Amino acid sequence: MEKYILRCVSCGREYLQDSYRLRCDALHCLSLLRTIYRQKKLAKIDDLLGIFKFSDWLPVRGKVEAKGAPITYQSTRFAEEVGLSSLFISFSGYWPERDAFIETCTFKELEAPPTVLRFLENSNGKLVVASAGNTARAFAQICSTNRIPICLVVPESALEYLWLTEKPNGCIKVVALGGDSDYADSIRLSNRLSERCGLIDEGGAFNVARRDGMGTTVLDAVLFIGEIPDHYFQAVGSGTGAISAWEANLRLIEDGRYGTKKMRLHLSQNHPFTPIYESWKAKSRTLLTVDDNEAKNRLKKTDSNVLSNRKPPYSAVGSVYDALVDSKGEMYSITNQELRRAGEAFEHLEGIDICSPAAVAVASIIKALKQGKVRSEDKILLNITGGGLMRLKQSHLLHYLQPDVTVDNPDVDIEEILLKLDHTL
Ligand SMILES: *Cc1c(COP(=O)(O)O)cnc(C)c1O
Ligand SMILES: [Zn+2]
Repeated sequence: MEKYILRCVSCGREYLQDSYRLRCDALHCLSLLRTIYRQKKLAKIDDLLGIFKFSDWLPVRGKVEAKGAPITYQSTRFAEEVGLSSLFISFSGYWPERDAFIETCTFKELEAPPTVLRFLENSNGKLVVASAGNTARAFAQICSTNRIPICLVVPESALEYLWLTEKPNGCIKVVALGGDSDYADSIRLSNRLSERCGLIDEGGAFNVARRDGMGTTVLDAVLFIGEIPDHYFQAVGSGTGAISAWEANLRLIEDGRYGTKKMRLHLSQNHPFTPIYESWKAKSRTLLTVDDNEAKNRLKKTDSNVLSNRKPPYSAVGSVYDALVDSKGEMYSITNQELRRAGEAFEHLEGIDICSPAAVAVASIIKALKQGKVRSEDKILLNITGGGLMRLKQSHLLHYLQPDVTVDNPDVDIEEILLKLDHTL
């Protein structure tokens, strides 16, 4: 008996073999697949490291070396300051005083291990990952530690995010895109590289391993709280984390021991780059988009430039739009000023630095309270998706990855790139 099967959220078609499948085969079926685990009651295996504690609900058989795991605690000082009596924090980052050891300092480190492992267990070939920064760092970390070859495609402006706490292993190839290239351009180039060299795209939100890895934040939190909370707050770029939280919630309802609530998803973006916010407010299932130049201009005005996905998985069945509808969700648009203030207050009261997307989520709680969207006694889960970088720097040296090749636009001749890499891709 297999540990899990994949089921299409839209048409229900089931796939018994994994085969690193990302999509449904049915004609015109634009939907996410979802993992259906045979084990319906979650057992946390405390002997295992990192997220592999939640192996029951990860689409993998073995494990890789990965010590990062989310932690949950109940906030006292910040909660009191904003007037909440049951605020729980899921923290993904480095905070040794609270047993948080995610050294790449974001929750992307929860997605990377199961994704890489699912790939190794079900596919031949080499992975390619396009990223605006944090995803590339997380994959670099896991692949470097476990000596797994990978190709990372990132905008040059994101190289500042590409560091590890150990000397990077040579199995990691970095292709950097110069000019004013952004995340969308790196996706374009990585697609072209995949076509030419047979590299395999990790699949983003369509990859069940990424989602179930991220969902461990909610699993950890619900085990800590003892029940499913009323609300879930997170800043989103692609919304993958939000879909994951919703799916983890549905599994926990099926488990039966944590109540039957669906947490309301309260998702936020950084003004003026807010495609998901705008689409949701317009009640549109289709994503409202702006042209490339406008998108780039807006992105430059945001502090949280990692929340930069221009084509988030919003309309596909089982993705962000459906998660918002099913959970009676809310969207917020947060200005730089709002997130800076909120971030400072949080750091001061909770005693740990957080990254700007996490500050966006903190600001959205303050906004939700003002707008009467949550009550002071509600049970709230706040996903601090990244933090502890300053804390990490106090005790660790950062090793920056150097690009193996830099090109100036996503449409360059692929042969040129391969030549520069001595065909080592
Ligand atoms: C990627 C990222 C997010 C957004 O996550 P989604 O994939 O959109 O759910 C939020 N915070 C941090 C720190 C991130 O790296
Ligand atoms: Zn289908």
